[in-house]
Amino acid sequence: MHRGRLLGVSNAVTTVARPSIDAVRGAIGKAEDGARRRSGSVHLLAVSKARTVAEVRAAHGHGLRHFGENYVQEAIAKVQALADLDITWHFIGAIQSNKTQDLARHFQWIHTVDRTKVARRLSAAAERDLDVCIQVNIDAEPQKAGVDPDELPALVSCVADLPRLKLRGLMVIPEPGNPRDSFRRTRQLFDALSPSAGEHWDTLSMGMSDDFADAIAEGATLVRIGTAIFGPRT
Ligand SMILES: *Cc1c(COP(=O)(O)O)cnc(C)c1O
Repeated sequence: MHRGRLLGVSNAVTTVARPSIDAVRGAIGKAEDGARRRSGSVHLLAVSKARTVAEVRAAHGHGLRHFGENYVQEAIAKVQALADLDITWHFIGAIQSNKTQDLARHFQWIHTVDRTKVARRLSAAAERDLDVCIQVNIDAEPQKAGVDPDELPALVSCVADLPRLKLRGLMVIPEPGNPRDSFRRTRQLFDALSPSAGEHWDTLSMGMSDDFADAIAEGATLVRIGTAIFGPRT
C-alpha cells in the first residue's frame, strides 16, 4: 500500500517531500520505541533554510506545522509569503543583537539565545510571549555559538526572570565525532537546571539529519531536520 503510493503518479505536491517526510517520521518513531519513550514525545521541526516558499508550502501540505530558519531576512520573506498557513516559525540561527526586534515580531520560538544582552532585548521587544531555548556550547569549541556550560546557570536565572520570555529548555549542536556523548551531557545539564529554570522547562532541542536517533536516545524532545526531509541544500 505504502509502496503503491510512492510509485503513484507524481505531481507538484508529492514530488517535493512526501516520501522523505514519511521516512523521517518512521525513523523518529523507531528511535522513540528503541529508547522506550512515548510515541509522539519527540517533535519534528522542519529546517527550511535555503528552501523555497513552494517547498515549505508543499511540506505543510504533508502535515508539517513547525519550520526553522537561520537567516532573518530570508525568513521574513517566507513568513510573509506563507502568512495564510498555520505555521509556527522557529529561529535557529546565530542572533545579532540588532535583529532582536525582527525576531520577536516574526518568530514564536527562538532556540539560540546565548547571552544576557540578547535575552533582555528580546524581552523588551516582544509584544507577546516568546518560547526560548538557550544554546549551549556543550563541547566548549572556540568560535562556536552558545553559552559555555560554566556560565549557563547564570543565564538560565536571567532568562527565567525576564517578562515575555518562556524559558523552554536547551538547544545544542555537538562537535563532530561523538555526538551521543555531547547529547548525554546536555541532558544532564538540563536535568540539573530544572529546579531553577521555571515552570515552562520542557524542551531539549537536539538532533539533526545525521544524528537525530542518538539525540532521541538521550532525551531530545525536538529534532531539527533539513536534509533528510528536503534533500541536500544546493
Ligand atoms: C541547518 C540546520 C539544521 C538542519 O540540518 P540538516 O543536517 O540539514 O538536518 C538543524 N539545526 C541547525 C541549527 C541548523 O543550522
